[in-house]
Amino acid sequence: TPLTPQEGAAVKAADRAHVFHSWSAQKLIDPLAVAGAEGSYFWDYDGNRFLDFSSQLVNTNIGHQHPKVVAAIQEQAGRLCTLAPGFAVDVRSEAARLIAERTPGDLDKVFFTNGGAEAVENAVRMARLHTGRQKVLSTYRSYHGATATAINLTGDPRRWPSDTASAGIVHFWGPFLYRSPFHATTEAEECERALRHLEDTIAFEGPQSIAAIILETVPGTAGIMVPPAGYLAGVREICDRYGIVFVLDEVMAGFGRTGKWFAADHWGVTPDLLTFAKGVNSGYVPLGGVAISAAIAETFDTRPYPGGLTYSGHPLACAAAVATITTMAEEGIVEHAAHLGENVIGPALADIAERHPSVGEVRGLGAFWAVELVRDKETREPLVPYNAAGADNAPMAEFATACKKSGLWPFVNMNRLHVVPACNITEAEAKEGLAILDEALAVADRHTTA
Ligand code: PLP
Repeated sequence: TPLTPQEGAAVKAADRAHVFHSWSAQKLIDPLAVAGAEGSYFWDYDGNRFLDFSSQLVNTNIGHQHPKVVAAIQEQAGRLCTLAPGFAVDVRSEAARLIAERTPGDLDKVFFTNGGAEAVENAVRMARLHTGRQKVLSTYRSYHGATATAINLTGDPRRWPSDTASAGIVHFWGPFLYRSPFHATTEAEECERALRHLEDTIAFEGPQSIAAIILETVPGTAGIMVPPAGYLAGVREICDRYGIVFVLDEVMAGFGRTGKWFAADHWGVTPDLLTFAKGVNSGYVPLGGVAISAAIAETFDTRPYPGGLTYSGHPLACAAAVATITTMAEEGIVEHAAHLGENVIGPALADIAERHPSVGEVRGLGAFWAVELVRDKETREPLVPYNAAGADNAPMAEFATACKKSGLWPFVNMNRLHVVPACNITEAEAKEGLAILDEALAVADRHTTA
């Protein structure tokens, strides 16, 4: 039966009456009532269809309603919905095996959580217990989740209202040549200065007090800044020198997003702990986790690990992970994401950057790209001020509205557009979305000073 606008209105009314939304002033939002989704599209009750260039919150790496993943969840639900974490369960064992086979180096044990923030919480707990140290270093341009430790590690403004200065967390600057905190002019210079700055931070904090350094392999929401060659290897070396646990947060960058199973594979770097969520099963059922090195796993061989969750390794979530990973491998989805980045999205965005005065820089890899919108290409002044809200943010809001009017659902953050479609979006769909972006950027161009 066709969906009607009246049904949509009822969904919206109940939402407005009873659903309390994240990150929002409840009376200032207008959530779209979504009726359904398939592949790279979702649609509302009024007959509008949107090409999903956001992958929701950058999690539907395999697209919406992939039939093999849906069937696996249905099959698992019919067979066994839930079992406590203490039991050995076939789908949990299989999910852990498939993940461990793909994580770099000796990260061969998996602790399951329900999402990314819990993965970060547990990685930090493991690092602190393993080292007997308290402090954790993270970068300013980062997001690690919204639970207590994860939000304190977060460097972007989502941290500010939840900041607890005593959490033992120290922020430093990661590399980002376009807005270099080090006034560098080349990637090599940015890399060298960023590593020196990290060394200085460690020296002044006291290396013997630092349990871990956590980085997003490629920072996601904070701007998709691909690290310069040598940076991650440099951090690895620093961690080894001081006995600091190196944590890579691959919640957003992992599971195909960058055109490799894990972003760390681009640089051949193995962390001590790797956090994942989102793409592990495209978010069809909540799942996250920590992949653990042999040395850290050994710390808890005879000493109990003091952490757990009722739904750790939930069978429905693990069944979805097994089906997602198997399907991604069978259908070559990781390779497809790499192809899209190299041959479709990358070249199209480079061309867009040439023609639009509002595009200061495009950067990324795989199905993971940022378009930096500016008022002026020369000064690089952002199209809207850092962390702008309300009227100050109007140019970005107008741009997003223009995209939606043309049937494209964009991911916008501060002065940036992120191009983050499903990793299995077809070339034709990707080109269709890029053409819509190209047109909508005329709206941003009008706000430039050029
Ligand atoms: N870490 C990174 C890099 C993320 O991008 C996110 C979410 O966007 C998280 C952690 C938190 O994950 P979750 O929202 O599943 O708790």
